[in-house]
Amino acid sequence: MTLGFRMWGCGNWPMEPVDEAHPIGNSGGEFQYYPGYWGPYFHTGIDIVVDNPAPSGPYVLTKDTGKVDNVTYPGPDCPSNESGLQLSFGGPNNGTTQVYAHLNCPVTDPVRTAFVNRTDLPAGTEVAQVIEWPECDYHHLHFETWDMSGAVEPVLKLFPRHDKDFPVVENISFTQNGSTIEDFPPPVVTVKGKVDIVAQAYDRQFVTPTQNHKTGVLKIRYQVSDATTGNVVKTGKTIDFSTIPDSSKTTVLFRTAGDFVSSSDYCGDERYYYVVTNVDDNNPANFAEEFAWDTTKHRDGDYRVEVRAWDASSNAGLKAKRVKIRNN
Ligand SMILES: [Zn+2]
Repeated sequence: MTLGFRMWGCGNWPMEPVDEAHPIGNSGGEFQYYPGYWGPYFHTGIDIVVDNPAPSGPYVLTKDTGKVDNVTYPGPDCPSNESGLQLSFGGPNNGTTQVYAHLNCPVTDPVRTAFVNRTDLPAGTEVAQVIEWPECDYHHLHFETWDMSGAVEPVLKLFPRHDKDFPVVENISFTQNGSTIEDFPPPVVTVKGKVDIVAQAYDRQFVTPTQNHKTGVLKIRYQVSDATTGNVVKTGKTIDFSTIPDSSKTTVLFRTAGDFVSSSDYCGDERYYYVVTNVDDNNPANFAEEFAWDTTKHRDGDYRVEVRAWDASSNAGLKAKRVKIRNN
């Protein structure tokens, strides 16, 4: 690839070319689970997947100008093939950091020099190529951005970002609060008491013919309407992965058992069952199994339950199901 000419200002992706969106393998807050290695967790950044790793693939570039806090193996000797970089930022972004992981070792001279001399490393500096991933050709830059609130979804700050892949809500299921089996099955879904709504949903972000991964969605929410009048009778709080929740809540927001086994790994096993009712009506950042849709708050009758999901470009996808409430 020739780099004699680069359109600065037209993009800030941390991967060549900076002025094009790149396919995402795993999104911020996405459910991740590698049984036998780690328990379930929320992915703390994005994976930008590439077809070719080092030595032939594209270069990872710094997204912003920052101080080099840390480089794994900055020297020319690499005891591991893998290197990594952490940048920190001053000024108005003081306290924020970026992490670039799974880089081929060693990093470039400008990175090493900026680290040793404690000088700023400019935005758009070539850092390294992506290391060859041992599983399923999942060669990727793992990119994290942290602010004072914790890890945040990095894609929200990347441009260009004209995402044409809308989120998809594939299915909606109804269980008793806390249950992992479909307690209120179709064809006539008849619910009572405190109910959990489980939505199977996913997104795709900037896919290519060779990189077509299912990611998590950015936001998801349920809403209930009276089927006769059309009036909305209940709007659940929006679960928002812009700030990535603490991983202790992973199995509160994602079902991992019974009829709803969420899965996500490097090799394309990607199913996400969101429990859209496990969020506090008063505090959308508070998640617990005790929360539910309390159907006793509504008259018996016919209702429409809708689950809507959004991506970082404000595209939305939705699915709706007709249910009967029978508490009396
Ligand atoms: Zn990752």
